Amino acid sequence: MSFTPMPSIRSRLVVLVLACILPSAIMVGGLIFHDYQSDRERIIANVITTARTMILAVDQRLLVTRSGLSALAVSPSLRTRNFASFYEEATASLPELNAESVALLGADGEMILNTLKPFGAPMPANHASQLAQVLQSGQPVFADLFTGSVAGNRRVAVGVPVIHDGKVAYSINASITPDRLQTILLQQRLPAEWVGAIIDNAGTIVARSRDQERFVGVKVSAAGIERLNGQRESAVEVKSLEGIPALSAFSRSGMSGWAVALIVPSSQLTGELGRSAFWLGMATLLLLGFTFALASSLGNNIIRTIRDLIEPAVALGGGAPLAAPPPSPLPLPRKPAFREAAQLGHALHQAALLLGAANNALTHSEGRLSTILESAMDAVIVLDEDHRVLMFNAAAERLFGCSRQEALGTSVAQFLPHRRDDPATPIDFVNRRGDATAQTGSAEPLVGLRRGGEEFPIDAAISQFVENGRRIYTLLVRDVTERVRAHDELLRSNLDLQQFAFVASHDLRTPLRSVMGYLQLLERRHGPGLDPKALDLIHRASVAVQTLDHLTDDLLRYARVDGQVKPFTTIDCNEVLADTLKLMDAAIVESAASISAGRLPVVLGDRAQLVQLFQNLLANSITYREARPPQIRVSSEPGPDAVWTISVADDGIGIELVHHERIFEIFKRLHTTQEFPGTGIGLALCRRIVERHGGRIWVTSAARQGSTFSFTIPMIPGGHR
Ligand code: ADP
Repeated sequence: MSFTPMPSIRSRLVVLVLACILPSAIMVGGLIFHDYQSDRERIIANVITTARTMILAVDQRLLVTRSGLSALAVSPSLRTRNFASFYEEATASLPELNAESVALLGADGEMILNTLKPFGAPMPANHASQLAQVLQSGQPVFADLFTGSVAGNRRVAVGVPVIHDGKVAYSINASITPDRLQTILLQQRLPAEWVGAIIDNAGTIVARSRDQERFVGVKVSAAGIERLNGQRESAVEVKSLEGIPALSAFSRSGMSGWAVALIVPSSQLTGELGRSAFWLGMATLLLLGFTFALASSLGNNIIRTIRDLIEPAVALGGGAPLAAPPPSPLPLPRKPAFREAAQLGHALHQAALLLGAANNALTHSEGRLSTILESAMDAVIVLDEDHRVLMFNAAAERLFGCSRQEALGTSVAQFLPHRRDDPATPIDFVNRRGDATAQTGSAEPLVGLRRGGEEFPIDAAISQFVENGRRIYTLLVRDVTERVRAHDELLRSNLDLQQFAFVASHDLRTPLRSVMGYLQLLERRHGPGLDPKALDLIHRASVAVQTLDHLTDDLLRYARVDGQVKPFTTIDCNEVLADTLKLMDAAIVESAASISAGRLPVVLGDRAQLVQLFQNLLANSITYREARPPQIRVSSEPGPDAVWTISVADDGIGIELVHHERIFEIFKRLHTTQEFPGTGIGLALCRRIVERHGGRIWVTSAARQGSTFSFTIPMIPGGHR
């Protein structure tokens, strides 16, 4: 058996599981991504806020310094040009200024004093060109990173002008080292992975929360500078100076123009997402694994259950009985995993039981049928459309001397020999014979052929039916050897009897006629001399001899009906009746009978016998009349079954119902010869003639009601009246 490829239950379940889990996994993924986005934005905002806080702290720090410097700028020591006193004041205010040093520049930019050097020591030139702007603008200045000319290290500075009489007389500058600025960054307690940096207006790193030594003085990238200059605050994905992907956020001071930049490694931001995605993945995988395991186990259960069901179903298909293993009520090797499987198993079991019962009934009825066929006395041969033997019973084996094995599949023609001059098949022949028998009442007997070559007479009947669109014949054959022999013997003995009757009646006639002659001679010659008693005896003897003569005549005619047969010819019954009436002329005149006739048919028959038939019936109608002249009517009518019914009706003495059958038997008379003359052979002869012509005869009558004698005779096919 082959099936078109189909997906297995397991693959269907996998698709089902994926269809159930994937949409939820995608939805959860979407939610997590959305969370990540908002988290990220929140973190970025946090980072920017932190940067803002830090730059404010830096600004505050610078403002403290600037305020301190502004307080020094109004020192009276400067008005009085008491620089030594000012040196003292400046040195004392260093902690308050939170600065490294304080320097005083003259209106021309020359350094007058620097707290890093003892008062009066020679001063180098000022290197922080930005500080010179204080003198020019009269405004405080925050100087970007520069290398101090006195200390020789990097630093930033805050400068304020000293205004005397409306003019910038000096500038006081406080320098702040990167370390001091770093303190501001460190005070913010940034997360360990974060890096904070203070960047001046030139884009140079002024302080850094980590690796300060390495990075102070390093310039940020041109793009970074551009960004710093372009915006007050922003955040962007960059590669950090350490070379790792990071988020860079900054906030710039409106006061100093410096900015605090915070570098947050991207891993800090994506870490959350990574963890969420990881757990989602793990959960999805776990769920998938679990569901696959569940689906697989379910699939295995279904597959196992189906496999368990396949075997009994196939067995059932093959007609095998399904045995349920005890104590299970179902024909399954294991307990089914599903109620539906149990129901299916139950249905299979029921079907098997029904099938078993049906098989038993079938086997029983087949057995009975085969017993009937086998015990049949007649040979039963079943044939297919081509006349080949499909079934051959025991009687057929015996009849034809052929075993069933030999006969099956062979042509039936070997048992029903084909006539060389007849192209019809044996079946046609059997059929045709059946028709012929129905029509004429006689047919040539069929012949069977035994295996040994011996032919024997058979009676055969055939019937047919259609099975699966093909004709099937059933042929019943009976050996009629015995019957034919008995029939032949009967015919022979009948013939012998007829011969005997014929010879006896024929041979009796001569001596009877002689006796009659002698009696007449005796009466004529010696009549006058004899006494009346003797004459009466002679007369009685004559009557007896006459009766005997009639009897022998009738017997002779009776014997001739079958004995001296002539082939049937077409006979017009009207002519037959006319001939009969001529023959009976004397009796008709004597009885003054009135005979009328309707139109009679043309039939196939023996003319002389039909004349005899009409003569006997008409003679009886005249003989058994009432005291008045008889009225006789001859008529015919077509009957069913393709026969004519011809009737002779009289108004005579009638016949009681009890005698209606007996009168057709030979020698049966209802009257004495004294009452009515007769031999009792007439109607027996009529019956014999009618039967020889394939018909039957009967009477309808009642005492003193007249009688109607009717007989049938087959119509000539297509014949006419
Ligand atoms: P037979 O006439 O020689 O006696 P049949 O065989 O012709 O013998 O008739 C048998 C008997 O049937 C007759 O004896 C008679 O009683 C009765 N029978 C025959 N034909 C008629 C008839 N037409 N009417 C009344 N009875 C009849």
